[in-house]
Amino acid sequence: MGRVSESTDLAGWKHVYSGKVRDLYERADGSASDTLLVVASDRVSAFDHVLSPGIPGKGELLTTLSLWWFDQLDVPNHLVADHELTASGELTEVIPPRFAGRAMLVKKLEMFPVECVVRGYLTGSGWKEYLASQSVCGIPLPEGLSNGDRLPEPLYTPAYKAPMGEHDENISFEQSIELVGEADATALRDLSLAIYAEASALAEKRGVILADTKFEFGRDAATGLITLADEVLTSDSSRYWDATAYATAETAEGRMASFDKQIVRDWLAANWDQTGTPPELPNSIVEKTAERYRELLTRLTA
Ligand code: ATP
Ligand code: MG
Repeated sequence: MGRVSESTDLAGWKHVYSGKVRDLYERADGSASDTLLVVASDRVSAFDHVLSPGIPGKGELLTTLSLWWFDQLDVPNHLVADHELTASGELTEVIPPRFAGRAMLVKKLEMFPVECVVRGYLTGSGWKEYLASQSVCGIPLPEGLSNGDRLPEPLYTPAYKAPMGEHDENISFEQSIELVGEADATALRDLSLAIYAEASALAEKRGVILADTKFEFGRDAATGLITLADEVLTSDSSRYWDATAYATAETAEGRMASFDKQIVRDWLAANWDQTGTPPELPNSIVEKTAERYRELLTRLTA
């Protein structure tokens, strides 16, 4: 079964933070204080809850995909220079064997409190908002669009990254300027749209639609550069659909045959009223999710 909780005792490292999915460590001896070890677990979250059980192999699949994308993209990223070693698991003195394949050594950045969301297709919360107001994050759209339709052009719809325990909230571009200043807000938007354009074109060549995604950026204190951080273009941070199914399916659901967490979200939405503790995921859902995550990696990178 996928690990839902695991020990954060790690010789040489001090545990500093656990998000819903990843655990962050700093050097225990205070050296290289600009470096973080980010360990992806098999935990899966939906509707802001960590679910049980986890998805076996998920931490490794998502780390592999993230490292692959960082390598494809022509933007400064937070990986320390020897990330190839991280990817191949050769950094064994640094990364303990039990974290092999699902850990990244990264530069600790001053993170911007903005989740940089780009949507190329209308679905999820965007679709709900469209039904209510014919707009997405306040941006007006043409009438007559359906769930899953391609948007006239990709939209940048930032969200405020709320401190731990609070919910992120969608904000306008103007509000993102209030948070980080005009120059940085503009740079975050332009970088996000450029990366989405590059990544979605690449994915499409491999028969996969990148429907939407979320980036996080930080500033590298040493260079001043805005730097791509966190995980990138994974099936946790993105919606990926099968392009063939999209082109041929007769139903809206069939169109959006996903390689991402939507499988879990859909099951949970149908089997839980979102009060109290979420139910255990059935084996079939766990296995299907793991299989689709593996298939995405193969399609994109093979
Ligand atoms: P939350 O931060 O709300 O718990 P989360 O559940 O998404 O969000 P995880 O994704 O599990 O958290 O944990 C990763 C954390 O590490 C995020 O808070 C992310 O912003 C942060 N992070 C990623 N890359 C860097 C970096 N290079 N420097 C500093 N922090 C980073
Ligand atoms: Mg996160």
